[in-house]
Amino acid sequence: MQSLSSHYHQLLGLPSNWEVENVNLSMSSRQVEIRLAFTGKQGECPICGQSCLIYDHAAEQRWLHLDTMQFETILVARLPRCQCKEHGVKTVQAPWAARHSRFTLLFESFAVELLLHCANIKAASRLLRLNWHTVNQIMRRAVQRGLVRRKAETVEYLGIDEKSFKAGQHYVTTLTDLGERRVLEVVEHRTTEATKELLASLNDRPAVAMETIAMMVSVSMIVSRLVNLLIFSAFWSPPRYRPWPGC
Ligand SMILES: [Zn+2]
Repeated sequence: MQSLSSHYHQLLGLPSNWEVENVNLSMSSRQVEIRLAFTGKQGECPICGQSCLIYDHAAEQRWLHLDTMQFETILVARLPRCQCKEHGVKTVQAPWAARHSRFTLLFESFAVELLLHCANIKAASRLLRLNWHTVNQIMRRAVQRGLVRRKAETVEYLGIDEKSFKAGQHYVTTLTDLGERRVLEVVEHRTTEATKELLASLNDRPAVAMETIAMMVSVSMIVSRLVNLLIFSAFWSPPRYRPWPGC
């Protein structure tokens, strides 16, 4: 029978140079705390990617992970710091989280998926038990990761949507890849300028080619957005337009 540590090691998909030191369960706070330790002798410099000797370990950090059996699950670890000949002492990237994030990548991925299904950011924030700004930061990090991966990809179905927050008083406009169900870009407001900013972001993706653009926005916004899309299409291969179910 597997030990609890190797069980969590497999569930978390940890590389061989990390081990689960211990798992603490608190019934009163309904929390599982998984303490991780780096066992390798070398780490990758976050700037140049060179493998360097471990210098020491950074201060303890905590990351919120997906719940385990409805128990809040926290990863705790001291990230190793390596000594790069070119860049000096640098903290090695955690394999389970983005830099400067206090959430695991799996949690952030779930949060983005939830956002795509919720009517607004406030609803997603409530389900995630996080405030609006934190959810917004998660969304922006996901967009940045997507931009790095997506340089040469094709987007077949593009969606322009709006999400409200603060009781419908404020909005953000999102650009989504409907085929792959992922957010491509987020800008504040639901104005014509916001749509222009979204579409301008496509200029950074020369390989993007689209069959259809679907707009999930209020009727009053459709006319002005169509005008901008038509202006945009003068500089880009014209897409077809069709309403998305539920508009
Ligand atoms: Zn380096």
